[in-house]
Amino acid sequence: MENFDEDPLRRNVIEFAQRLSSEGLSMGTSGNVSVRIDESRFLITPTALPYDSLELQDVCLVDLNHPEVQQGLRKPSSETPMHTAVYLARPDIHALVHTHSLYATAFACAGKPVSAVHYIVATMGNEIPVVPYRTYGSPELADAVMQTFRTGLGVLLQNHGVLAAGKTLQEAFYHATTIEYLAHLSFVAQSLGGPILLSAAELDTVREKFKGYNQNKL
Ligand SMILES: [Zn+2]
Repeated sequence: MENFDEDPLRRNVIEFAQRLSSEGLSMGTSGNVSVRIDESRFLITPTALPYDSLELQDVCLVDLNHPEVQQGLRKPSSETPMHTAVYLARPDIHALVHTHSLYATAFACAGKPVSAVHYIVATMGNEIPVVPYRTYGSPELADAVMQTFRTGLGVLLQNHGVLAAGKTLQEAFYHATTIEYLAHLSFVAQSLGGPILLSAAELDTVREKFKGYNQNKL
């Protein structure tokens, strides 16, 4: 592990940080992404730097045992406390994508979870719950996230945005995109009289089917 090459993961962080704006999930530097290196370290986007000009050394390393110590040239994202809290509490999570995507954030502003309007929600849980509002970047927000984010792979942050997780950055990004899709779908279905919601039992069935699908792909 001593000679572990971080560069591919640093490249990964830059690629997905850039895709936040190119795929319409966030404006400017309003979102952020991170990826776990091992049980005690992760990489995260820097604060206040335009993502289209990021270099490998701009990506910040955070030590989970000493998250307050700046490791490199750049100051890590203001949402580092929230990412740190999730990595400490959820060993199953290896990457996080935070966005302010429009429809999902509208649900967050209304304090409404994104419900089981489509079976694809089963990749993340039975719904996307709402974390109560706390000031951005604060330890209080990190605590509130952990209270709600004990299971599942996505949450809404009230009056703020989205936090999506995965085993890889690609998967976390896919979940962030899916949460936005589900929120948009739910909003449109409201205009047609409201969506018919899927039961928890049906979502369990769908998850079983996904397992078979993944095996077939291998
Ligand atoms: Zn934010």
